[in-house]
Amino acid sequence: MFSGRRPILLLLNGGIHTMNPDQPRATALAVDRASGRIVAVGDDAEIRALAGPLTDTLDLGGRVALPGFIDAHTHLLGTAQARLDVNVRETHSEDEAVALVRQRAERTPPGAWIVGQSWDKNAWAPQQFPTKASLDAVAPEHPVALASHDFHSLWVNSAALRIAGVDASTPDPLSGRIERGANGEPTGMLFEGEAMALVERFIAPPDDETLLHELRRVFAELRARGVTGVHNIEDAHSLRLMQRLRDEGSLGPRLLLYIPRASLGEALRLGLTADFGDDWLRFAGIKVFMDGALGSQTAAMLEGYEGRPDNLGLLTTSESEITQTVRAAADGGVGVAIHAIGDRAVKTALDGIEAILRRRAQAGISPDALAAVARRFRLEHVQLARPEDIPRMAALGVVASVQPFHAVVDRYTAERYWGARYKRAYAYQTMRRAGVRLAFGSDTPVDTADPLRILHAAVARRNDATPDAPAWLPDQALSASDALWAYTVGAAYAGGQEARQGSLAPGKLADLVVLADDPFTLPADRLAGAEVAATIIGGELVFGQLE
Ligand SMILES: [Zn+2]
Repeated sequence: MFSGRRPILLLLNGGIHTMNPDQPRATALAVDRASGRIVAVGDDAEIRALAGPLTDTLDLGGRVALPGFIDAHTHLLGTAQARLDVNVRETHSEDEAVALVRQRAERTPPGAWIVGQSWDKNAWAPQQFPTKASLDAVAPEHPVALASHDFHSLWVNSAALRIAGVDASTPDPLSGRIERGANGEPTGMLFEGEAMALVERFIAPPDDETLLHELRRVFAELRARGVTGVHNIEDAHSLRLMQRLRDEGSLGPRLLLYIPRASLGEALRLGLTADFGDDWLRFAGIKVFMDGALGSQTAAMLEGYEGRPDNLGLLTTSESEITQTVRAAADGGVGVAIHAIGDRAVKTALDGIEAILRRRAQAGISPDALAAVARRFRLEHVQLARPEDIPRMAALGVVASVQPFHAVVDRYTAERYWGARYKRAYAYQTMRRAGVRLAFGSDTPVDTADPLRILHAAVARRNDATPDAPAWLPDQALSASDALWAYTVGAAYAGGQEARQGSLAPGKLADLVVLADDPFTLPADRLAGAEVAATIIGGELVFGQLE
């Protein structure tokens, strides 16, 4: 029982997997509450010996505990926002999606925006991109903008195009594409960030109080799922709101921040370097987009999409640009997370990183100093890579920050648009064997943020929502132990935080998840439904009950 707030907390009687190779199993640990850090790990007798007037104890009741999950790729303000928008995720056709927009239009004043997301034309019949015409028919008075499931394309109506001033005379942005019909008129489809931004910048976001309310709920849900840390990839608006949540004490999981590449210059001018911040909100680096996404066929490919040999996707950053960006960031002590989905994006990103590391090695920078910088390089998604690029990633020390749930959701899309290449896709086991460090994440709001469902996807290579579908590329399945590593130690490493979190050892943050069953030995099919009994952040019980 918690009895007041004595400075030392003893957690006893657990089946603790520490993820620390020097002391993999323990039954107890002691936490210094002021710092939120572990001071001792051992068996019950050793830890009980520390008991005294300054200690509280908490009985884990024989349950299994491990380091809290760290989600290496989130968009939490986006997740909060998505909860307010029209969600067309479960639709099977353009008509069904439009019907949901019609419902929203009926209770939205004319002229106000209708925003939504998660349509997936790959789950529709017929499998084709929608147009403005269907939205115009149900919401002629409302500007409408609906992001695709992968957030790499935007479906808009005529009112939205009118407000944005986008018409036949509008040129395509440098990286991005306005889909056009006869006579150059926009069809209502905008591909990739810069084209989407033509319309998105006119959408007024909900007010901050509304967003904060949703964010608190998002955080509570993450705590209930055992998540104690996230790597959040968002902008200034998000950071302002996160600071308000920290001030009111409702932050948690802890946030490691990745900001848009456009802010790199400001960060460098300010002298902001990776690790600035505290245990709750800490800066890590920038996020750079190399390409688009598979679902929108904008991921950059070395060879064309199946049936569309002319479509190589979109490389949204050139090799010279990425080299320049990586150099500037690395020299300034800023981490770099590079979104790279297609094989050409992965290759180009690695070329850029390799060029910088080679130059540094030639300049006589020690391997240790090199590793300190190199380990902050990470590729996000890595959905398809040339076989030779996987050992190259390992040799360059580049982390693969991957989202196993995408694999089981994207399987049919990958087969359809990549043809035989799909057999090399989402190749987590190949990467692991080659020595690439893996970090797991959700990419919420794109897919579920539930670590146990994501772990299940990695171990069973199957979506627990469609249990009858056979495992997809089962050779790429990971063991539970490797998957748990990627959700704890691996994710911490990806953010350069392995000295603070990811495993349970003296000096590290006392962030734990307590589970009703042992995920190391649970049959793979039961992982997705495994129950989180409690979540502890900094030695405080933030979810569940233990008595
Ligand atoms: Zn993302």
